[in-house]
Amino acid sequence: MPKRFSRAIHWFRRDLRLTDNTSLREACYASEEIIPLYILSDWNKEHLWTGPKRQQFLCDCLTSLAANLAHLGGTLIIRQGEAITELLRLVTESGAEAIFLNEDVDPFGKALEARLKKESPVPIFSHQDIALHGPTEILKKDGTPYRVYTPYSKRWLPLEKIKPSGRLKTLKTPTSLPSLPLPTLETWGLKPLSKTVSAGGEKAARLRMKQALSETIYHYGDTRDIPSILGTSRLSQDLRWGTLSIRELYQEAQKCGSLKYLKELAWREFYFHILHHFPDVLKLEFNPDWRGLPWDTPGAHFQAWKTGQTGFPIIDAGIRELLETGYMHNRVRMIVAMFLTKDLHLDWRLGEQFFAQHLLDGEIASNNGGWQWSAGTGADAAPYFRIQNPWSQTQRFDPKGTYIQRWVPKLSACDPKLFLTPPVDGKPIAADYPLPIVDHSDERKRTLAIFQKHREANSQ
Ligand SMILES: Cc1cc2nc3c(=O)[nH]c(=O)nc-3n(C[C@H](O)[C@H](O)[C@H](O)COP(=O)(O)OP(=O)(O)OC[C@H]3O[C@@H](n4cnc5c(N)ncnc54)[C@H](O)[C@@H]3O)c2cc1C
Repeated sequence: MPKRFSRAIHWFRRDLRLTDNTSLREACYASEEIIPLYILSDWNKEHLWTGPKRQQFLCDCLTSLAANLAHLGGTLIIRQGEAITELLRLVTESGAEAIFLNEDVDPFGKALEARLKKESPVPIFSHQDIALHGPTEILKKDGTPYRVYTPYSKRWLPLEKIKPSGRLKTLKTPTSLPSLPLPTLETWGLKPLSKTVSAGGEKAARLRMKQALSETIYHYGDTRDIPSILGTSRLSQDLRWGTLSIRELYQEAQKCGSLKYLKELAWREFYFHILHHFPDVLKLEFNPDWRGLPWDTPGAHFQAWKTGQTGFPIIDAGIRELLETGYMHNRVRMIVAMFLTKDLHLDWRLGEQFFAQHLLDGEIASNNGGWQWSAGTGADAAPYFRIQNPWSQTQRFDPKGTYIQRWVPKLSACDPKLFLTPPVDGKPIAADYPLPIVDHSDERKRTLAIFQKHREANSQ
């Protein structure tokens, strides 16, 4: 049967795979030839929402995507610049009759889609691909969005999920279109990384998924909170960049029988849902009660937090894991985030931005959700008075100091008991290791006072 279009563009954004890619599949049904396109941002070092580690991961994903397309006889077209300008230029240049894309969930991606739909001379076909259930699919009986995770997840879990569609087998792409070379860090004027980060791309993601499905997810409920072991799936960066399909991961993970794991996937979609319905969370506290809290001015304490020099071993280990690898364990993300907001009284937005610059999985919705949860200001957040104590959290989740000693080598000769309480004699626990920059119990009291005062002032 003749196809509807002779040539169409598939615009890759955060769906950098050939397996079970909804928009790419639909484009192939509808068009004889596909132009697989990726548009590099003209990001520069001043950009606050990404950083060299993430860009390196993106470079890997694109190299892998190009190789996978070449295997099918296709060519990835790379362009750079303002997305709409580049798309429209390519439409004119190539004679493409349609543009296919998978919908984004964040306001910036959505704004581009809206502009494209207005300005494009050819039809735009967009698909929900990023989540098992799109942000408007699960609503309360009265049609309003959920604000609390548990009732949302109770609706999410039993809903039927779309099955994955498999890997693309053939693809015909035009041969004559010019493309920029695959990017490297130099493309954005960045220096090569001093340490390698996890490899990006579909092949690397599938290897990680295989490992998680053959082992980790089976005992996830028991191991997920222990940062020193491989007790979580470590797939967040692959879901972020779309080198794995959420439908495939869900289908396979279901076979491992860990409800706890499936519920984590629901958290990811809950935060997409929150960001879609309440995009102001990127600027404001989700809970209006906590808007306008008096945060301290960032100075030496923020610098110590960002460089892993707080004198709290668990905090410093987490930050150093992040700085070296672009990843931080979820339990430690919570401890580190609460410490910034409740012990140092610094604005959660500072931490949100710092994480976005360093995390390979940096994801606007989950990052904002995680930060607002930790600050006590978010949807279904930890109440402000539940303040994690970094010392007792260490006792619970890293009692032998294995995680701490891995990431803070200066502490490798210390007795791990020293990581469980503030130094008793007022002396550093190792040479060149700082004393704790604050006293947790004093700061806890200060946080309670700040929140209570704010609540009282608002209720008058
Ligand atoms: C302050 C803070 C910031 C965070 N920033 C991000 C971020 O930018 N990007 C990101 O993907 N996750 C973020 N998270 C959530 C969580 O820490 C990571 O998803 C998780 O550590 C990734 O490791 P994993 O793949 O081994 O997760 P697993 O424990 O194996 O979980 C499986 C998957 O479920 C999802 N998931 C798990 N926990 C959460 C959660 N709390 N919220 C949303 N999704 C979740 C992720 O997609 C993850 O890959 C943040 C959490 C906090 C507390």
